[in-house]
Amino acid sequence: MNGTGRYAPSPTGELHLGNLRTALLAWLSARSTESDFLLRIEDLDSGRSRSQWIAVQLRELEMLGIDWDGEALQQSDRSGHYEDAVKCLESEGLLYECFCTRAEIREAASAPHGEFPEGAYPGTCASLSPTERKDMRASGRPPALRVRAGGSILAFEDGFRGKVTGEIDDFVVRRNDGDYAYNLAVTVDDAEQGIGEVVRGADLLVTTPRQLWLFEKLGLQAPSSYIHVPLMLGEDGARLAKRHGAVTMEERIAEGATVGGLVGEMAASVGLCDPGDSVEARELIDGFTWEAVTAIT
Ligand SMILES: [Zn+2]
Repeated sequence: MNGTGRYAPSPTGELHLGNLRTALLAWLSARSTESDFLLRIEDLDSGRSRSQWIAVQLRELEMLGIDWDGEALQQSDRSGHYEDAVKCLESEGLLYECFCTRAEIREAASAPHGEFPEGAYPGTCASLSPTERKDMRASGRPPALRVRAGGSILAFEDGFRGKVTGEIDDFVVRRNDGDYAYNLAVTVDDAEQGIGEVVRGADLLVTTPRQLWLFEKLGLQAPSSYIHVPLMLGEDGARLAKRHGAVTMEERIAEGATVGGLVGEMAASVGLCDPGDSVEARELIDGFTWEAVTAIT
C-alpha cells in the first residue's frame, strides 16, 4: 500500500495532456498497490474557477479510464473547515495581518538588501504596532492573513527528487478578498481525506515545505509520501500550453487521435510503453512501479 492517492484539478478550463499525464501517474501509483484514489476540486480561486469546467474535467478523466472512490470533494463547500484552521493558528499566535499590495511586496522583495528568495514575502507587516494596524484598517485596506513562520527551514524526502529543503516565508492563509489560500486548503483537505501519497506536478514542489509546516502547526497527519513529477514539455522545451497547438484530449481527438493512442502517448513519454502503442489505462496497472518510470523528462 502506498496510502490513499489523489488528484486535485482546478476547474479553470479543459485539462491538457500534461495535467492528464500527472493524473494518470497518480492513479497508477495508487491502483497498482490497491490503494484508494480520491478526487478533489480545487475551486477556491473565485476569479478563475468556473463550475462548468468541473463536469468537463471529470468526463476527461473518465474517458481516459481514471476512476476514483466516492464523491469528489469540492473546496468551495468547505470554508467552515478552513475557518476553523485559521482560528487554530490564530489562537497559537501564528498569524498576523498584512496590508501590503502586490506592488509593495514586489518592490520590497526586490530591494537590494532583500535576502529572501524571489516572490517570498519579506515580512513588512510582521512587526506593525497595534496603532499602526488600527490606522491601516481605518484607511480601508482589507488585510490578508499571513503565518509567522520566520524563515523556518523544512526538509522532506521527495520520491522523485530525493531530499528537498525549503525555507518557509510568511505565506498567506487567507487572502485580502476573503478567499482561503491554496496552501491552507490543501493541508486541511489532505488531512481530511486521509491522503497518504501526493503525486503532483513539479511546479508545486515549492509549496510542500509550507504545507508540511502547516500540518505540524495544526496537529494534522501529513501524507507519508510526496512525488513531484516533471511537467510535460512542448517541442520547444517550454511547459506544455495552449500555444503549442492541440494539447487537450478533445482537440487531439478532433484531429483523429484515439483515447488509447493518447494514453499510449502519455505512457510512452514516461517509459511505460513503446512509442506508438495504443493502450488502456488499466492495462498499465500491473507492473507499474516508480522505478519503471524512467524516460520522464
Ligand atoms: Zn504586508
